[in-house]
Amino acid sequence: MAEGGAEKSKRVVVVGGGIGGGFIAKILQSSQNEVTLIDPKEYLEIPWAQLRSMVEPSFAERTLIKHSEYLTGVTIVSSHATNVTNHEVQTADGRTFPYDYLVVATGHPGSNKVNRKDRLSHFQQDYEKIKSSNSILIIGGGPTGVELAGEIAVDFPEKKVTLVHKGSRLMEFIGPKASRKTFNWLVKKKVEVILGQTVDLESLSESGVYVTSGGEKISADCHFVCVGKPVASSWLHDSILKQSLDNKGQLMVDANLRVKGRDNIFAVGDITDVPEIKQGFLAEGHASVAAKNLQLLIKGAPEKKLATYKASPPIALVSLGRKEGVAQFPFATLSGCLPGKIKSKDLFVGKTRKALGLKSA
Ligand SMILES: Cc1cc2nc3c(=O)[nH]c(=O)nc-3n(C[C@H](O)[C@H](O)[C@H](O)COP(=O)(O)OP(=O)(O)OC[C@H]3O[C@@H](n4cnc5c(N)ncnc54)[C@H](O)[C@@H]3O)c2cc1C
Repeated sequence: MAEGGAEKSKRVVVVGGGIGGGFIAKILQSSQNEVTLIDPKEYLEIPWAQLRSMVEPSFAERTLIKHSEYLTGVTIVSSHATNVTNHEVQTADGRTFPYDYLVVATGHPGSNKVNRKDRLSHFQQDYEKIKSSNSILIIGGGPTGVELAGEIAVDFPEKKVTLVHKGSRLMEFIGPKASRKTFNWLVKKKVEVILGQTVDLESLSESGVYVTSGGEKISADCHFVCVGKPVASSWLHDSILKQSLDNKGQLMVDANLRVKGRDNIFAVGDITDVPEIKQGFLAEGHASVAAKNLQLLIKGAPEKKLATYKASPPIALVSLGRKEGVAQFPFATLSGCLPGKIKSKDLFVGKTRKALGLKSA
């Protein structure tokens, strides 16, 4: 018999229903344990598909997946977690959820549309906005701004798209070669890219003339703000985990993906300080290692049996419209149709749905 009360079911609380949280809840639902998922939204959103959904709203039908669709053996709680103590998680609606094991997976805040239906309507509104505008300003040249510019430039080549980015190159999270190839692709598609400047977000109007920090005037019928959102860890600021946050707001984890110094608290996905590019497929990898370790601990396995997670080399794929893309691998950086073939057509949506046990189409 295993040590530590192996037969007794344990209470596992997962906070955050994005890629990392959704996947770990999915893995753990087939265990003997009582699993609870806390997420303000009633659905999991595949974040990297949102730019396609802005130019083709029906695409979102497959990318917004109700938690109840893929989690059949999990208690789903629709609320924000607001605090965690040594024994329980507190939520914004005043409830408390005791845990034996906790998984923190609050990578980014996510949409404020908590109902799937409202999120679908939001994409429809974005689409109408793009369709009815002749000129569009995109603020932010990270992956979101770049992928949105790519989608608009390909689907609406007649529109004037301007992208303003405060950095000296696009997408600083990947190498300069990939940034350069992306810049050249956008320019070829007639996107005007302005680097090293900002647009004051405080004084934005819905349309008209936008003035950059360098004094340039940009006329646009509408704008989209695509600046990176901070990690969603503010709810931990007054909690038992406040000392476990680094200066970027990330949770410091050990090689087994437990929050440093904590025996029964794991963290997965973008909220962790694992030194690698923040990617959904890596969050899925975290989920499988953390789920394995959590189950080993529940069975009473010794620490030395726990699986370790090794940070991934810098791999990234950025889509540029429906057929092309830029890929950074450890050995090469490619652009054009080959990376486009890997990501841009379906944006890994079918693959992600299948991994969640759903039909890909
Ligand atoms: C434009 C773009 C393109 C990308 N392309 C790719 C790609 O091609 N391939 C790839 O692998 N990755 C890609 N990524 C990265 C990928 O989206 C993230 O790495 C991944 O979503 C991280 O998963 P996560 O679970 O850590 O966080 P998220 O998916 O951000 O989920 C966090 C969840 O936590 C919830 N939450 C937040 N605060 C609270 C709270 N207080 N209480 C309860 N719940 C809370 C949110 O509602 C959300 O559901 C891309 C990202 C972007 C923006």
